[in-house]
Amino acid sequence: MRTALISDIHGNLESLQVVLEDIDQHRSVDQIICLGDILGYGPDPVICAEIIAERCEWSLMGNHDYGALYEPTNFNAAAEQAAYWTRAQFELETDPDAAARRWEFLGHLRVRTTFNDFLCVHGSPRRPINEYIFPEDAVNSPVKMRQVFERVKRYCIVGHTHVPGVFTDEPDFYPPSDLDGVWKFEEEGRCIINPGSVGQPRDMDPRAAYAVLDESAGTVDFHRVEYDIESVVKKIYAIPELSNWLGDRLLEGR
Ligand code: ZN
Repeated sequence: MRTALISDIHGNLESLQVVLEDIDQHRSVDQIICLGDILGYGPDPVICAEIIAERCEWSLMGNHDYGALYEPTNFNAAAEQAAYWTRAQFELETDPDAAARRWEFLGHLRVRTTFNDFLCVHGSPRRPINEYIFPEDAVNSPVKMRQVFERVKRYCIVGHTHVPGVFTDEPDFYPPSDLDGVWKFEEEGRCIINPGSVGQPRDMDPRAAYAVLDESAGTVDFHRVEYDIESVVKKIYAIPELSNWLGDRLLEGR
């Protein structure tokens, strides 16, 4: 079974379309799963939610999905304002059936789910919606990493940090550049995989990120694709409720 892993779309339609095209044309996958944060920051939340609902087997609930649907908590001012603007975009829908279908989809995003040996959460196994597992935690926070791995039987897939790579329980972190783009599962030992972000990469590479899990080969391939960032930035600049900073960071991948 081959599964495309996408995460953290953040209302970025241009990057989502390019990633899905890349998957369709080159990866011959059996399913696509989304690790959450479909919404927040970006200018096209409604259409992104429609596409994820149609194309993904299922999606997780990210903190920004939660923020737009219920209440933004622990957000900075720009993120909070974006969350209220995002909710308003869904409320503009005049067709009651379309509106009901979207709220139904968002309201049923999964907080935590498993398939085969894989536990899937947006943030971390102990706080699935909100906790970050940062690459530097592997060096600076061994206690945190031990507590996180105590909740992982074998494999875990997360999003949330927007930084692609693999955590092992040593603990260690391997960015795709250290792996020649391919992680090979070991006979023993646990790991946590992050495919990176489709719509707002934060590893100083502005290209859209995703990964493909191949269970029979025992591998995860990390991929990057270029997309029309300038168009998205222009849309963000044109929406007063979305801070210009949200566009600027797309250009830099941070
Ligand atoms: Zn996110």
